Amino acid sequence: MLKAIDMHVHILTGERAKQGWAPTVKAGLPMNTGKWSSDPDGMAEMYQSLEMMAVIFDVDGETRSGIKIDNSETAAWVKKYPQTFIGFGSVDPWKGKIAVEEVKRCADMGLRGMKFQQAAQGFDPTNERFFPMYEEIVRLKLPVIFHTGTTAVAAGSPGGKGIVLEYCKPIPYIDNLAAWFPEMRIIMAHPSWPWHDDQLAVLRHKGNTYMDLSGWAPKYFPQSTVHNINTLVQDKAFFGTDFPMMTPERWLSEFAELPLKDSVRPKILLLNAAKFLGIEVPSTQTASNS
Ligand SMILES: [Zn+2]
Repeated sequence: MLKAIDMHVHILTGERAKQGWAPTVKAGLPMNTGKWSSDPDGMAEMYQSLEMMAVIFDVDGETRSGIKIDNSETAAWVKKYPQTFIGFGSVDPWKGKIAVEEVKRCADMGLRGMKFQQAAQGFDPTNERFFPMYEEIVRLKLPVIFHTGTTAVAAGSPGGKGIVLEYCKPIPYIDNLAAWFPEMRIIMAHPSWPWHDDQLAVLRHKGNTYMDLSGWAPKYFPQSTVHNINTLVQDKAFFGTDFPMMTPERWLSEFAELPLKDSVRPKILLLNAAKFLGIEVPSTQTASNS
């Protein structure tokens, strides 16, 4: 029985897969895999044993990093583990027409959405030069994940290695995009600290926006986030870990301690994501007393 869908899980593809996670760790990201392996085979085993599905993706930041990813590898992992993985693609928006073509190729390969990381990719998501890419995304009905809040990438290094946090603000960036592309379903990744209240405002105002609760230990979720996912935005929030930065076990054990209604928990863990992604769950699981 499917128990949960993890909306935010990283894999490495292309040249990044060959390098492994060492450069990622060097860039400041923690690796908290517990007893699990961080390669996609090991991750599939983990999610199967936990009776979960996972949305997997890599991030294409080639213009900044010079390192190539390969969306066809993400598609191949989904093909290998179709009961476990749902794949999202990633394009570097700076690639212009090539990025637009790659969005189309991702959809053709069966990837179900697109993932952006404005800090790592160094782009202003509201710049008009990227609109042809969004138009293609809308045409193909692909949902998108945008990073929000601070980032662990290069955290603590001098100048944050040149990364600016500005473009990760829900207001104005995600709010504007959601207004300009009302057909684009946007997931704001993470509880968006220190702009969590802005994120909640966007969620409450823009019907086409959602959030995942990944990359942040639930015991440190801001109080207003906990209050809103328990009430007004209970249909718009998804479980997510950011594996291999955090294990599902840790996330779940801390989530269990949050003061949430019993009727809300299955929505966040499974039902909201199932509905969002069009994954069928037996009606016995959808029965809710809210
Ligand atoms: Zn992430």
